[in-house]
Amino acid sequence: MEIQSFVNDIKSQLGVADFISLHEPKFKGNESKYVQECISTGWVSSVGKFVDQFEADLGKYIGCKKTIAIVNGTSALSLSLKLAGVAANDEVIVPALSFVATANAVSHIGAIPHFVDVSLSTMGMCPEHLKNHLTSIIDFEKGTAVNRNTGRKIAAIVPMHTFGHPVDMDPLIEMAAQFQIPIVEDAAESLGSFYKDKHTGNFGLISALSFNGNKIITTGGGGAICTNDTELGNLAKHLSTTAKKPHPYNFDHDQIGYNYRLPNINAALGVGQLEHLESYLKQKRKLHAFYCESLKKYEEFTVFSEPANCRSNYWLINITLRNQYLSLRDPFLEQTNKLGFMTRPSWKLLNQLDIYKAAPTAQTPNSIQLEKSVICIPSSPFLAEALT
Ligand SMILES: *Cc1c(COP(=O)(O)O)cnc(C)c1O
Repeated sequence: MEIQSFVNDIKSQLGVADFISLHEPKFKGNESKYVQECISTGWVSSVGKFVDQFEADLGKYIGCKKTIAIVNGTSALSLSLKLAGVAANDEVIVPALSFVATANAVSHIGAIPHFVDVSLSTMGMCPEHLKNHLTSIIDFEKGTAVNRNTGRKIAAIVPMHTFGHPVDMDPLIEMAAQFQIPIVEDAAESLGSFYKDKHTGNFGLISALSFNGNKIITTGGGGAICTNDTELGNLAKHLSTTAKKPHPYNFDHDQIGYNYRLPNINAALGVGQLEHLESYLKQKRKLHAFYCESLKKYEEFTVFSEPANCRSNYWLINITLRNQYLSLRDPFLEQTNKLGFMTRPSWKLLNQLDIYKAAPTAQTPNSIQLEKSVICIPSSPFLAEALT
């Protein structure tokens, strides 16, 4: 294929003459009004009405019982793991294909990531592979799943909904129950993604979301913890807000807590951004449909579509190179970026990073395949505005 004409063709159809970024935030609604309100009232920091409203609006949208605003997605995941009972020196099952934060959140509490493979049809944790892998490594010691190769407890399973495409949760839940291991969802990329009509983040014991600047909606930096276990949710709020015992003026803390609070000024941005979520989701579906149609003519790759029974938020839209064209990946990345059409590969596999080379891992052939073939293409919702 001729990459220059590929880029020109898409740019002209999208009505954009210059640089197209991968994913860009826009603040065209009430965001500045809400942020201004924080500034003019002085309520910019760790408490305020926008924190409460953001938690309420987000919880209502996701359909979970408790939602706690957190300073970022990594801290939200780390605290979620801790609340699910993960302790230092435990192992946590993590997909090899993910952003580094998934594994880092495990490391931050002294636990060890244990990498497993993903499915080619969802790009997320593969239940079948996981079942075989866990069956081959787990011994039960007094009802606890232990990795017989390392002697360490396997304390949680962390499915991640890659680029917004939901993991096949039903078989995963069944298996996790069988092995008595809690599921902690990394839903950082999947606000607006549904598995069988239920929003992602509702399937595990607890889950983490991110509102970093590149995500579908942003609070500048930010995250959230979601759970349907009210008690666990209350504990998440307590621990993330310094574990202070409620009192009008005294400082007394019943645990070593964290300052993981999302500032009110960030939550104000979030309340404004959430008002756009439905329209962003519509625009992203439109953009995905456009790419499917207009890229049909290229035999080198296919546009990835949501798995069956799922609704992806299409946070990042991806193309996957066919096997005979894998060598096109690097020149494609090189040239499209040079031509102002921003593209990115998936991530270097976590079990190949120097920092995690010593961590336990299964064979991960599908992750390797995806790492070689996936390219993310521009996915900002507003790109769909020029499309009819
Ligand atoms: C963005 C992201 C996170 C972390 O979120 P931050 O808010 O950037 O800390 C975690 N996991 C995945 C898969 C992500 O994409």
